[in-house]
Amino acid sequence: MNIILLGPPGAGKGTQSARLVENHGMKQLSTGDMLRAAVKAGTPVGLKAKAVMDAGELVSDEIVSELIDAELEALGSDTGAIFDGYPRTEAQAGSLDEILAKHGRTLDHVIELAVDVDALVERITGRFSCAECGALYHDTANAPAKEGVCDSCGSTEFKRRPDDNEETVRTRMEEYRAKTAPILPGYEARNIVTRVDGMADIDAVTGSIEAILT
Ligand code: AMP
Repeated sequence: MNIILLGPPGAGKGTQSARLVENHGMKQLSTGDMLRAAVKAGTPVGLKAKAVMDAGELVSDEIVSELIDAELEALGSDTGAIFDGYPRTEAQAGSLDEILAKHGRTLDHVIELAVDVDALVERITGRFSCAECGALYHDTANAPAKEGVCDSCGSTEFKRRPDDNEETVRTRMEEYRAKTAPILPGYEARNIVTRVDGMADIDAVTGSIEAILT
């Protein structure tokens, strides 16, 4: 099974990917996570990407498509892939088709997380994650059960993404509207798109996604 989770920043792609990994043993392929790891490690890709990411703009199609290709190369053929934050442009959608074909995979579903754009800034500026295990939280919607302690691993260290500030979020939304949303019609023509209400609570969204996969 190979699926794309599509939606603007803050739609819940990362949260739902983590659920799919846990429930189905699929592999989350998040180009945002890969790029953040490259920035942290100071690799040539990371050095190139950092300023672009901080501004909320898109890094080059070649860089992200190469990252995805390399990850799929390393992935066992019976492990399903969740594409999270990729593809984000028409050029990337074309590359993904080629990369999937090369690895003998086909795209089963594109799941669009539909959200109310006005609510997204609040969602994004409130989010944070465990610095140790990466578990995702939100100040009001999904706080740890015990304040300051990660539910998953007990760590007391948390972090926020530098690009989760209001100004950058608005640029990221505009990038989504101008460059990413236009890839949907191509997938719709292939009858593989299902729209899910991304404003519902986290468990309900997971339920809707599970219903699509079965
Ligand atoms: P994300 O974690 O998916 O919100 O991505 C964070 C940032 O990484 C984005 O704002 C972009 O600067 C960059 N990025 C992640 N994925 C892609 C992609 N597929 N194409 C271009 N830039 C990307």
